[in-house]
Amino acid sequence: MGVFDELIGVNEKGDIFSKNWIEWEHFMIPNKPQWLRDILRNLMALKGHCLTCTSVDGCYFIASNMPERPLHPHCDCKQKGISYSIVQTKAHAVSGIEKFRDYVFAPKHFGKGKVALFKEWGYTIDDSEELRNTYAEQALLAYKSGQYKRKKLDEHGQQLAIPVSLNAKKFYSGWMLRPEGEIVLITPFGGWIK
Ligand SMILES: [Zn+2]
Repeated sequence: MGVFDELIGVNEKGDIFSKNWIEWEHFMIPNKPQWLRDILRNLMALKGHCLTCTSVDGCYFIASNMPERPLHPHCDCKQKGISYSIVQTKAHAVSGIEKFRDYVFAPKHFGKGKVALFKEWGYTIDDSEELRNTYAEQALLAYKSGQYKRKKLDEHGQQLAIPVSLNAKKFYSGWMLRPEGEIVLITPFGGWIK
């Protein structure tokens, strides 16, 4: 034990990651419940506080990979350092089965466009449950070791591209970052990792 252990971790895959994490903060916005958060974000928007800023309130980022502040002139956003045990305890992935059952494997999409890969790899609608679990497990591990790419940031929040590997192929999946380390699956296939 020592300073080194407090700053650097090694994940299950053997990758080293920084334990230096922050929580993004905008005043007046609670992390939950969602209904109150929505009301206050809208009220604050009427007072001129931008919805993009309030959308990331409460979100956890690894300090080496966070949006650059200020997001705009007169930005009220702040950041506070949080201990890695908070990230470890609170972070979780929400990987909806409908992303597979009703999208990837929906008859009108199956085998077409980007999701054709799942058919090529031999998956069927019966694998939806297993896939959603695999995604949640892999993406959470990657997020907690800071292995995400920041994509679009707008009034809906910060989108992340997170690596997933299936069938020995590595690619990005698309997630929405939510307060307190929640990541929510948006797009099962978001492009190859080059
Ligand atoms: Zn701001």
